[in-house]
Amino acid sequence: PSAAETLDLAALAGKLRGYGRREMTEVIRLLVMPVRDLLDEWFENVELKGLLASVAVRGITQGPFAGGTTFNLLHHLTTGDGYFRATAKGGVGAISQTLAKAAQSSGAELRTNTRVLRVVVKEGVATGVELDSGEVIETVQVISDYDARYTFTQLVAPPELEPEFNRAVQHVRYNGSVARINLALSELPNFPTLDEKALQGTLVISPSIMHLEKAFDCAKYGNVSDQPYIEVTIPSLADPTLAPEGNHVMSIWLQYVPYKGNVDARQICELVLARLSEFAPNLRSLVLHTQVLTPHDFQERFHLSEGHLYGGNMTLAQTFFLRPIPGFAQYRTPIEQLYLCGAATHPGGGISGLAGRNIAN
Ligand SMILES: Cc1cc2nc3c(=O)[nH]c(=O)nc-3n(C[C@H](O)[C@H](O)[C@H](O)COP(=O)(O)OP(=O)(O)OC[C@H]3O[C@@H](n4cnc5c(N)ncnc54)[C@H](O)[C@@H]3O)c2cc1C
Repeated sequence: PSAAETLDLAALAGKLRGYGRREMTEVIRLLVMPVRDLLDEWFENVELKGLLASVAVRGITQGPFAGGTTFNLLHHLTTGDGYFRATAKGGVGAISQTLAKAAQSSGAELRTNTRVLRVVVKEGVATGVELDSGEVIETVQVISDYDARYTFTQLVAPPELEPEFNRAVQHVRYNGSVARINLALSELPNFPTLDEKALQGTLVISPSIMHLEKAFDCAKYGNVSDQPYIEVTIPSLADPTLAPEGNHVMSIWLQYVPYKGNVDARQICELVLARLSEFAPNLRSLVLHTQVLTPHDFQERFHLSEGHLYGGNMTLAQTFFLRPIPGFAQYRTPIEQLYLCGAATHPGGGISGLAGRNIAN
């Protein structure tokens, strides 16, 4: 680390010491602890523990028995993506639109539907980007919002980099394990045991910690459990503009669906409909259209390496100054004037905007 980073780390260590000996050791214990152990210390109710544990494994390819899953829980809580999740009016895309307007009003030129083919590197320095149209834009700095694997295999040619760095890029852990299923519905499904207010929140099928661990067990061997972890939201309840009048959209998070596994889009859609029909018996009859996105679809359509939603698994070994690659934290890369930002960098995935703010500062 640089002198400034060493000072930052020392300040952090000082803050930790300031908690006193007992609290300091407790913080360290929490970071490495399996979330199962944490919840067993505090709660008795099996269903409650299942619900609370789900956030600790959300988006990662680990089960709740794994060390470090308490850290993932804390990460979701600190980025505002814990138990009570919010969306934006007009959908999450409305946030991008608002940011785009703010940037344009400050003079930024935005080009959409334009693909960067590669970063132009001359003698170890990024000097511009080449677009798919063949146009080269010369720049002083290039900032890639893409993950380390994509940036350093597709945008920068590996021969520009040291073998040691290329090896580290290959060893970033991705193995996405979430599929998304979106349903267009002719009307609001009937969940007999829930009132409409409850439907405005997130519905979670994670009845126990063991349920989550068993679902993960299947994924370890490349399979999808027939008792998966499911989260459901109906965004059109909060924002009716998302569907034609009377219709609704249902957005479903399905985990674990391993990138490195046998996944059939039709089968997982059928599985989800079967599980949800146990709670909403009329669901199937309301489906007008389905969209299934597996980790392979995320990779092909959005260039997310191995379909990982957060630009790399959010584990302790890939976080803080180890993210995205040990030795290349603080948004720097081995190529001068080329920086990384976005979910692949500290503080990781989610829609916090913090990585972008940090690099701008
Ligand atoms: C299905 C799904 C569900 C999620 N759910 C949640 C959630 O509920 N809560 C939450 O907090 N987070 C969620 N996340 C994670 C969150 O969306 C990401 O962490 C966040 O969007 C990352 O932001 P980013 O700016 O790093 O990258 P992105 O938002 O992925 O933006 C990268 C942009 O770069 C563009 N691009 C790609 N390649 C090129 C190229 N060659 N040239 C030019 N442009 C290119 C892409 O089109 C894209 O617009 C979810 C992610 C997914 C995929």
